[in-house]
Amino acid sequence: MTESTIKREILLELSKHPRIMLWNNPTAVARPRNSKRYIRFGNPGEADLLGVIGRVMIDSDIYGQVIYGLALAIETKTAKGKLSDKQTTWRDAFTAHGGIYILARSVENTQTQITHALRERGIEWEWKYLDS
Ligand SMILES: [Mg+2]
Repeated sequence: MTESTIKREILLELSKHPRIMLWNNPTAVARPRNSKRYIRFGNPGEADLLGVIGRVMIDSDIYGQVIYGLALAIETKTAKGKLSDKQTTWRDAFTAHGGIYILARSVENTQTQITHALRERGIEWEWKYLDS
C-alpha cells in the first residue's frame, strides 16, 4: 500500500469520530506552471496529518461538553518507511510540547497508538463513532 493511500484511509476513518478533527498538512515545494517562483507548503519535517482530540467532561455540571483538546500529529509511512532527520526533530519538538505524535502505518495501528497515548494521560477512549 502506498503512503498516500494509508494517509487517505486514516484521514477518512478517524474523521468519522465525533471527538477528532483531522486535516491534511502537505509539506512540499512546487512551481506553478508559467511561473518562476516556487511555493513552499508547510515546513519540512511536519507530520502529514494534524488535528485535535476533544476532551469531554463527564463528571461535572458541564457534562458532555468539550472542555479542551489534545494536539494530534500523524506521520504516515509505509511498512518500511522511516522518519527523516527533519521529521525526527519535528516529532521531538511536538511531543516536548505535549502533543500526541503517531508514526502510522495503518488505520488499526493508528487507533491502537492513540488509545495508548490517551491511556498514558489517564484518558479512557473508545473507537465508537456515534455520539451518545
Ligand atoms: Mg509521511
